[in-house]
Amino acid sequence: MSETSATSAASHPVPKPWIAAIHPYVPGKSTGTDGQALIKLSANENPLGTSPLARAARIGGGAYSGDGARDPARYPDPESHALRAALGALHGIDPARIVMGTGSDELLNLAAQAFAGPGDEVLYQRYGFSVYEIAARRCGADPVVAADRDFAADVDGLLACLSPRTRVVFLANPNNPTGSYLPRAELARLHAGLPADVLLVVDQAYAEYVEADADDGAMALALAAQNVLVTRTFSKIYGLAGERVGWATGAPALIDMLNRIRGPFNVTLTAQAAALAALDDQAFVAASRTHNCTERARFVAALTALGNHGLRPLPSEANFVLIEFSGALTAEAAYKGLMDHGFITRWLPGQGLPQCLRITIGTAAEMDRVAAVLSQMAATAP
Ligand SMILES: *Cc1c(COP(=O)(O)O)cnc(C)c1O
Repeated sequence: MSETSATSAASHPVPKPWIAAIHPYVPGKSTGTDGQALIKLSANENPLGTSPLARAARIGGGAYSGDGARDPARYPDPESHALRAALGALHGIDPARIVMGTGSDELLNLAAQAFAGPGDEVLYQRYGFSVYEIAARRCGADPVVAADRDFAADVDGLLACLSPRTRVVFLANPNNPTGSYLPRAELARLHAGLPADVLLVVDQAYAEYVEADADDGAMALALAAQNVLVTRTFSKIYGLAGERVGWATGAPALIDMLNRIRGPFNVTLTAQAAALAALDDQAFVAASRTHNCTERARFVAALTALGNHGLRPLPSEANFVLIEFSGALTAEAAYKGLMDHGFITRWLPGQGLPQCLRITIGTAAEMDRVAAVLSQMAATAP
């Protein structure tokens, strides 16, 4: 009789094998190996911080007086009505087609759980967002990884991996950690190649950083098709990573399923208030986008100016740049050297990218310093 069979008595609770196979998510660090605080360019947070309006709403003058909707002794609005109405107004979406999550992370996991399970497959590109593998395994499905094309998503590669068992396809656009962006025509081609019963989840965590006129068409697909879900987050350009607010939109039948299995009070009182106020401050969003575009271009130019040292910044539409190291200076040495100079970045050997460093766009002064340190290290590498 096997130790895990139903009739044997194990000496401890036995986890499901697909859960035991999960490697925990590795978050961006904020301290060095000796615990010293470092300038954090490792988690794609907003270097401009948070809208002052959102900060104020979060603290909420008198909010804790116990006299009403902002009373922390009371549960928050389980359906985030005001927040969904504001999102609907901003994006031109019926609020009934919006579901809120504890970060978009919750919704990515629920999308996999609602539509895939043991024996099914969840498909995404090589170098896709690391949460997708966890989301696939959490529900017992098999992760399937499609070949990339020079680090970016490849529609033909993804379509070639479809099988009768494919239930969910994840695509981050722009993608993390590569920064790559799949244009509208290619995304349409991917969708057109999927059977009607395969769910396409387009994760737009960085959509607000893409040039204003570059629309990948996912929102229109989510409106028109029955099998497209788009996720967004307040963690990146809205500067509210600590409050954990994300949302998804798609066909009512999809939203209905996610509503059945999400946490009933999944968005906290302060998170709802802060996100609502943040939506009202589109000037902050615009300033954040402009800052990112300017500093990302400057940083890429500085790296390109290093010439023949083997540092290649990959094209990025997001608030970070992935640099491939192929010269004397390795990604690992650059990671450690930047840490010695007070910067924590993201070295990604665990994601199959030991030759790459992902660096979040920080302030102008921070990017000048990072570029100078990299330049000095590249010039003196053995
Ligand atoms: C940061 C990020 C998210 C956001 O996750 P939250 O749970 O909303 O904080 C989602 N997808 C990708 C690709 C990301 O990089």
